[in-house]
Amino acid sequence: NNKTSVTYDAQDLWQKDRNHFIHPFTDFSLFHEKGCDLITNSEGIYVEDVRGNRFIDGIAGLWCVNVGHGRAEIGQAMADQATRMAYFSTFNNLSNAPATELAAKLAELAPSHLNHVFYSCGGSTANDATIRLVHYYFNRLGKPTKKHILSRNNAYHGTTYMAASLTGIASNNWEFDTLDHLVTHLSEANCYRRPEAMTEAEYCDHLVDELESAIERIGSDNIAAFIAEPIMGAGGVLMAPQGYHARMQAVCRANHILYIADEVVTGFGRLGHFFASEAVFDTQPDIINVAKGLSSGYAPLGATLISDELYAVLSTPQGLGGVLSTGFTYSGHPVSCAAALKNIEIIEREGICENVRDVGPYLERKLKTLAVHETVGDIRGSHFMMAIENVADKTTKELLPVEARVGDRVAAEAQKRGLIIRPVGHLSIISPPLIWSRQVVDEVVAILDE
Ligand code: PLP
Repeated sequence: NNKTSVTYDAQDLWQKDRNHFIHPFTDFSLFHEKGCDLITNSEGIYVEDVRGNRFIDGIAGLWCVNVGHGRAEIGQAMADQATRMAYFSTFNNLSNAPATELAAKLAELAPSHLNHVFYSCGGSTANDATIRLVHYYFNRLGKPTKKHILSRNNAYHGTTYMAASLTGIASNNWEFDTLDHLVTHLSEANCYRRPEAMTEAEYCDHLVDELESAIERIGSDNIAAFIAEPIMGAGGVLMAPQGYHARMQAVCRANHILYIADEVVTGFGRLGHFFASEAVFDTQPDIINVAKGLSSGYAPLGATLISDELYAVLSTPQGLGGVLSTGFTYSGHPVSCAAALKNIEIIEREGICENVRDVGPYLERKLKTLAVHETVGDIRGSHFMMAIENVADKTTKELLPVEARVGDRVAAEAQKRGLIIRPVGHLSIISPPLIWSRQVVDEVVAILDE
């Protein structure tokens, strides 16, 4: 390990941060009171704060550092690329080697019909770019009325304008505006809080019926696409009933509505496969969006994987002067793509998907032992994507009052004991680097048990 160590002046940094850094997703009542936690070092499954306290990273940065922290070989690949050729345009017919190599690699890893890659800078921009491409696709097909997008309550698709509009977590858009004329939100699929009288199979029928009714009401001629996370992440690690995604896709297909899988969290190993759509949920999306684990967070990068069928339309020449006029300065950024290529090499070489398929079920089993606790209403998720739902009453599933700040308090207690998990309202989210071993799981569950 050839890391250089740096000493920071904590007081100076705290002051500057307080005065100048507008943090994303900030609760200003907490920020004004206690400022920020400065994370300054990281290695493997650990991160360290400016005071030198070490924590197990239970959230992989933000569901993204899939191969773990401090990978010198990713840093080296980025440095090599940055000094060789840090940046040049990919507009028009220009390209660079890492972007080209990565596109080919993604086509190799993705379901067989997804062979074309459009790059963006992260998950939000991947979703935004996707909706623009989908609208463009239907315009080119001579179906300009097909514009509406079906999303779901509690979905999280990002915070650029369109992605925020697709997002269905009400509190995320509080006092923000959204493009409501373009989006309809269906019910989320949440087995834990399904109507009590319904079996899981009936609940699935009910959700599929809701989709069919929405299509009937809005008209399939007006609907472009349905977008869904295979497992809802930020919305609460919500698990759909068995067979839900495949049935939703079948209805979409019957109505010429594109099926977009947002695999920003579920992709790149979190559920034990590079892509969960086909391997886990038996769906063949027209489009899969990825980001986060694509580069394990070492550099910003997102990608839209597009089917051969869509590409045939997008790539049909428009005639003289016609250009597919969308993209970003940093589409296919060479340094980010070099990071992603090395990241994928590590995932394959170290059998990281295999580790998730081995340790993931163990993590699920061990976390479920926490069900004995009075306030633990549900422990759910799959493999390295888990959540604990804290409740006031396990039978009625009634929530604790917001003022109880249960998620924040559980996270704070965990942090005191050397573990960072993510509070989301009344939930405790665990989405670790994919290199956790069984011993680490034991250590983490012991902390949570306490
Ligand atoms: N889609 C999903 C499913 C996500 O979880 C996220 C981020 O958490 C995004 C999109 C947005 O990605 P980004 O924050 O990189 O823009």
